[in-house]
Amino acid sequence: MFFSFFLLLLFYPTCFPARTTPLPNSPEPATTTISTTNHNFDKFIDARKGSHFSGISELKEYMQRFGYLQVTNTTSGDEFDERFEFAVAKYQKKLGLTVTGKLDAGTISQMTLPRCGVSDTSPTSNLHAVRHYNYFTGKPRWSRAIPTTLTYAFSPNCMASNLNLSDIKIVFRRAFSRWSAVIPVNFTEAESYGFSDIKIGFYSGDHDDGQPFDGVLGVLAHGFSPESGKLHLDAAETWALDFGSEKSRVAVDLESVATHEIGHVLGLAHSFVKESVMYPSLKPREKKMDLKVDDIEGIQQLYGSNPNFNIEALSQSDTSSNHGIDSKIELRSSRWSFAIAMLLILFIVC
Ligand SMILES: [Zn+2]
Ligand SMILES: [Zn+2]
Repeated sequence: MFFSFFLLLLFYPTCFPARTTPLPNSPEPATTTISTTNHNFDKFIDARKGSHFSGISELKEYMQRFGYLQVTNTTSGDEFDERFEFAVAKYQKKLGLTVTGKLDAGTISQMTLPRCGVSDTSPTSNLHAVRHYNYFTGKPRWSRAIPTTLTYAFSPNCMASNLNLSDIKIVFRRAFSRWSAVIPVNFTEAESYGFSDIKIGFYSGDHDDGQPFDGVLGVLAHGFSPESGKLHLDAAETWALDFGSEKSRVAVDLESVATHEIGHVLGLAHSFVKESVMYPSLKPREKKMDLKVDDIEGIQQLYGSNPNFNIEALSQSDTSSNHGIDSKIELRSSRWSFAIAMLLILFIVC
């Protein structure tokens, strides 16, 4: 019996994932046609300097919107000029693509991905730096004394049509707790929307803040730098709480986007570590909500560490982590369980 117990322990997994990420389920019914933003970019594949592509000005607008190009009257046409080539190369370098200066398939594919609406421009961005987290101009943060509590509330009028408010609240509570676990900032839901620090709402198209949403996919959401507190999500998306029940191929994970946008509201700009929560793009049906070392170091530079958090728990080998806090903690606890079980066996046998 001891032998079989020992065998069982040997095959005991060293790590249970903190949460499982369901595989994409069955796609949308074939009869459903969904028009998604940026999908017509495919026609520009293989465009390079010197070529003239009808409609490439649309791509120039995209590059301008996200901080890679300043479009002027003389550069706004469909010419693939030197300035646009430079912008493409800059985009490729930042996003971790092969730098060719051409609109190759990988670059177009990245541009087609849904992403955050916040610009990738950052004054502290240094492509050669070891760390990749970034801040907004002036490195703003919530200026009150630490530790502190920030309040949040949901717009009484602008919420997701396909979700219950109670479910949205659960998702945001979890998203806020990821950040409060690593910094001495707590979050609590306020009764009054008007007086809350962080104001959350779902909006369609132009909603009077100069950052219009664009329909299905494309831009998913945006969060404003401190101490604005605005956190807006595109009401046109199919927001998902659980991909098991939400089958749409264009479904977007609400918790992943909420966690990312809270990072902006706290003062983080985009990171170009692909695995980080603060990376600007997120695929449909992808989950990415566990803070990585890059996210944690970035936010702790602004607010300091939560005294209960020890970054060592993430392990030294995790600077380019594929694992989040939860899975690391589970890994450590499962190793301890194994060690204790072994000691117990030795004690019984002896
Ligand atoms: Zn963002
Ligand atoms: Zn907005």
